[in-house]
Amino acid sequence: MDAGSPDNNAETSEQDVDMEIKEAEKEEEEEREEMKAERAATKQLVPYAALVKTFEKCEQTTKRLEITEHLVMLFIQLCPDYEGLELGIGESIIMRAIGDSTGRKPDAIKKSYQKIGDLGTVAQESKRSQSTLFPAAALTVPHVFKKLKEIAMFEGQSSQARKIKIIQNLLVACKGNEAKYIIRQLEGKLRIGLAEQTVLAALAQAVVLSDPKSKKWSTGTREERLLRAAEVVKSVYNQLPSYDMIIPALLEHPLEELLDHCTMRPGIPLKPMLAHPTKSLTEVLDRFEGQNFTCEYKYDGERAQIHKLEDGTISIYSRNSENMSQRYPDVMEKIQKWIKPSTTSFIIDCETVAWDKEKKRILPFQVLSTRKRKDVKEEDIKVQVAIFAFDCLYLNGESLLQTSLKTRRQKMMESFIRTEDEFFFAESMDSNNIEDIQHFLDESIKNNCEGLMVKLYDNEHATYEPSKRSRNWLKVKKDYLAGVGDSVDLVVIGAFHGKGKRTAVYGAFLLACYDPETEKFQTVCKIGTGFSEEQLKTFHEKLKDTVIPTPRSDFMLGENPIKPDVWFKPTQVWEVQPADLSVSPVYMAGVGQVDPTKGISLRFPRFLKIREDKEVEDATSSDQIVEFYLNQGRND
Ligand code: ATP
Repeated sequence: MDAGSPDNNAETSEQDVDMEIKEAEKEEEEEREEMKAERAATKQLVPYAALVKTFEKCEQTTKRLEITEHLVMLFIQLCPDYEGLELGIGESIIMRAIGDSTGRKPDAIKKSYQKIGDLGTVAQESKRSQSTLFPAAALTVPHVFKKLKEIAMFEGQSSQARKIKIIQNLLVACKGNEAKYIIRQLEGKLRIGLAEQTVLAALAQAVVLSDPKSKKWSTGTREERLLRAAEVVKSVYNQLPSYDMIIPALLEHPLEELLDHCTMRPGIPLKPMLAHPTKSLTEVLDRFEGQNFTCEYKYDGERAQIHKLEDGTISIYSRNSENMSQRYPDVMEKIQKWIKPSTTSFIIDCETVAWDKEKKRILPFQVLSTRKRKDVKEEDIKVQVAIFAFDCLYLNGESLLQTSLKTRRQKMMESFIRTEDEFFFAESMDSNNIEDIQHFLDESIKNNCEGLMVKLYDNEHATYEPSKRSRNWLKVKKDYLAGVGDSVDLVVIGAFHGKGKRTAVYGAFLLACYDPETEKFQTVCKIGTGFSEEQLKTFHEKLKDTVIPTPRSDFMLGENPIKPDVWFKPTQVWEVQPADLSVSPVYMAGVGQVDPTKGISLRFPRFLKIREDKEVEDATSSDQIVEFYLNQGRND
């Protein structure tokens, strides 16, 4: 038979389509059965509409207390499995699913998106214009979460079509405002002003208030218990940032025992401990007066938290808890060699730097940043890296968080093997004499490091504090010593068209810091210096696809806003060096903290580099900007 004949092909492809349709119908049937079974299993599934109502209420207020109350009310009724999902589905997939489920043309959807700037609202409006013949059964929270999880877990070639199918089915079943929030959940951003810390506090409060005895407590007792509960849940979350594990434990055990049931474990990345900037070595000496401290080189690379589970699984996580194992196949292949046989499980805190094997030295950060971040194949890697380990948070089944740095360092050195060109322990020096420190700082800079990390060493406060910017770790960068102060990491939210030679690209940009309390991006400066022509071209290429028609509702622009030519969806974080900071009627960073209506702005900012390792929510916070402003000129 001539399989290549056109007729034959046409027949085959028609058959294929028929098969596909049948399969899709089968899937839908299975889905309906699943929903029926779920409903039969329990009559008390929480309707998704209840969650949406809470989202709406949160979106309508900026008051933290009110938001917490709404959440507490929801959690008290709720108590389902909360799945810690990594979503962030691409816009194109979402737009296709909206089109497929509502029958609107892709062009029309794209146009609405350009006009409205929020796919959730686009989905909502598209549904409104659609008439439904058969009203679907109401969505429940467990069902929606189950489907979101399925979407998050699909990988591989056919995954796109399957994701679209699930989204489509969800959208068809949506009522009221559900479509808006389902789409935002798919994008990974609810944008309702709900910060993580608020969720944790609300969760803790819901547990306390669901105790029937709570109604009889005096106001004082109630307040005290609520505060303590929030502290417990937050500290548990710092060690085990997984709702999947914390919520079942909260439901099963008394709050006082939560820490015993939710301990850190390899495989779940911890939020890293962060350092405080200082301006001089004398400031360091003052801070640590009468206490032992240790100095380490501050390597200029990318943070890496390396985990090994008892079953042998090894993973590398970024500063943002993103799994980077595939980005570093060369490192993954070597790690086993650096581990002593007696070391069965661990979590270590390290910095990855670019490494020159011939000259046996560290290369500047710029070299590391030329490494590919996606689809890295070992044979294509040109830039070699070395790992510098500076802390050990977990070893052989035990948490070391509460032990002193001295103990942690000692255990780390006993458990790993320094391996030439590959794995080193961070260079350290324990003398507390200022001349020795100055010398060590000079040496660090000669070795292509950024300066020093100075850390409290051996008393009861020298513990590892996950996710905290602690004053027990101080950073001394060579730049601060030159009197220019710390650099800041800001989000690009707008741009101005270039002039003269630069008409084809953006010539300047509007930057914002991030306020995690209100989840707003507050404008902080305009920047037009420090860019090479090449960089401007690349930024134009990258950013032009993120243009949105109007500033987003989470941009805080103030009464006399700067008006860039284009606005961007926040995607990029840039490290920027200001000359100094001043109070400004135009910019909004930290508004209300130094002046009731004015914010802080950076003067003469220079672009340094892109922070690929930071999400927009990890940008310098408004509080930090205010602190930098208040501290400037204080060169003690
Ligand atoms: P921050 O993390 O403080 O918001 P940042 O990411 O810009 O700011 P830096 O201010 O440069 O980081 O300083 C902290 C970073 O320095 C750590 O996150 C880590 O990646 C890196 N680092 C290098 N050497 C060390 C060391 N010896 N100890 C701790 N961190 C180190």
